[in-house]
Amino acid sequence: MNNLSRMVSGASNRRNFRRTRVITACAVCLFGLAAVYFTAQWWRDRAEQQLESKAAETLAVQAEALSGILDKYRLLPPLLSREESIIALFDDPDRDMSEAARRKAIEIAGRSGAKEVAFLHTDGRVLATAGGLFTGNREEHVRLLEAVRQGRLGRQAISLDSEQRAYAFAFGVRQDNVLIGAIAVYVDFDPVEATWSLSTNPIFITDPTGTVFLTNQPLWRLQHLDTLMSEARTPGHYLVGGKVLHSDLTRHLPLLDWQLHVLSDERPLVTAAWTGGIIAALVSLLVGALAFVVVMRREGQLLRMRRDRAASLRLERLVRERTKALSDTNVSLSREIDERRQTEEQLRKTQAELVQAAKLAALGQMSAAISHEFNQPLAAIRTYSDNAHRFLDKGNTGTVSDNLTRISGLVDRMAQLSQSLLSFSRKPGTTVKAIPIAPVLDEALMLVLPRARKAGVKVETKIEGGPHRVLGGQIRLSQVFVNLINNGIDAIAGAGTENGQVTLTVCEDGDAVVVRVEDNGPGIPPERRDSIFEPFFTTKDVGAGIGIGLSIASSIVADFGGSIAVGESDSGGACFAVRLRAADASDIAAE
Ligand code: ADP
Repeated sequence: MNNLSRMVSGASNRRNFRRTRVITACAVCLFGLAAVYFTAQWWRDRAEQQLESKAAETLAVQAEALSGILDKYRLLPPLLSREESIIALFDDPDRDMSEAARRKAIEIAGRSGAKEVAFLHTDGRVLATAGGLFTGNREEHVRLLEAVRQGRLGRQAISLDSEQRAYAFAFGVRQDNVLIGAIAVYVDFDPVEATWSLSTNPIFITDPTGTVFLTNQPLWRLQHLDTLMSEARTPGHYLVGGKVLHSDLTRHLPLLDWQLHVLSDERPLVTAAWTGGIIAALVSLLVGALAFVVVMRREGQLLRMRRDRAASLRLERLVRERTKALSDTNVSLSREIDERRQTEEQLRKTQAELVQAAKLAALGQMSAAISHEFNQPLAAIRTYSDNAHRFLDKGNTGTVSDNLTRISGLVDRMAQLSQSLLSFSRKPGTTVKAIPIAPVLDEALMLVLPRARKAGVKVETKIEGGPHRVLGGQIRLSQVFVNLINNGIDAIAGAGTENGQVTLTVCEDGDAVVVRVEDNGPGIPPERRDSIFEPFFTTKDVGAGIGIGLSIASSIVADFGGSIAVGESDSGGACFAVRLRAADASDIAAE
């Protein structure tokens, strides 16, 4: 990927990431708003249900308590009106019974716990009261007496002021079915209000005219409900002095034709809505933060994945390039190997040809002597056969037979030499095997002896112990020794040494067989000892040597795992020590 396309893909990544973030932020905001709205609503509804159930509970309890109190006092006047002592208070209009009546009233009030007990004349005047609270010719007394006259239980709410309120039950006192007076019992609501004051819910009672008669809210007392109800709320809910009034939470008290109301305060609902909203907002914030973290992590993951992908693509490309380079190198290497193999093959061939050339050079050196070696027995054979004819003519068969035996010996010798020449001139094999060293040396001697004889050099062989078997090839090894002996003959002849001698000594040295070829020639100066093994190094005249004999000999011996060392012989001539690996039992068994 080039720089331009990398920059383009980076910019598109950033655009994608920005779009994802904006979408996430919008989704979180919408979710948050919805969560806040619905949670606030739900929280408020729940709080409202709780408030309402609590208010309904309060309503039921208070309604029961109030009915209980009123029931108790409702029955009191009819019961008292039948009492003789009370009838006696009214039966003589001329007698002043006010004091007795007052005492009776105090007694009844004391026993019943009523707020006030009053005895009334039929015209509305008060005979006596227990506490003197509701005296005088009051409107309420007139309405009470009206009901009493009709034989009913008079009932009337009475209030002097917001502090002095009571409910009066009145019943007529009759003698011989004639109304002679009335007894009124005033119910005290102070304990009821005292109980209500403990409640947190506003509680109040409205009379049929809608006036608040009893309440635990002092400011509402004796106010008309319409003046308190400032505005209509949702159906069934009203706001009274800042408190919600629930119409379901109104109970009709049939005994008094009163309405008992229990209100709930709206403030907890607002608080609940706020609480729910704030919790939802916090949760939304948390969700938003989590969503943001998730988005950021996802972005990081995507970036990492893209980076990894790019890196792996780069790596793949690199591997492809390297693989191609390697396979190219491999192809050129195998080509080189092939070329090297061919070159080695060529080298081997050249070496073989060189060996052959060196051998032919040695044969060339020996050819004159060898042909002399053939001519001499041929001449002798001629002489012996001529003599044999003469002795045959003379009848001397014994001598003839003797001559024929000598001829036969000479032919054998010539055949042997010819055999050696043939085998020496053959191309050598390449196998390395365990061979006895003595026949190798015999063959070499056979070939060099004619030349040695011609040069007046004695060749001697000393074999210590034996039989010595070495690892090598017969023809190649004999070539080595032919070369070494020829060099000794050449050195002796070149120096004109008297009583020239080449000695071959065979001995064992550890796991090697050492064949020492020593001469009594001029020897080799130490500074020249390294150079003589180099190819084409020669000190001989042109045509006498080409300088490859020793280099070929040393490479043949190295092929057999051996070595050639040069030194000085006891007589001051040269000494070549050919060290060959001795064949062990396993090598011999492998033959
Ligand atoms: P060439 O015989 O064709 O010269 P060689 O490799 O056989 O090649 O020998 C190299 C040289 O080593 C000879 O020219 C000679 O100078 C020296 N050399 C070899 N053998 C002997 C020896 N026995 N005595 C003295 N010099 C020797």
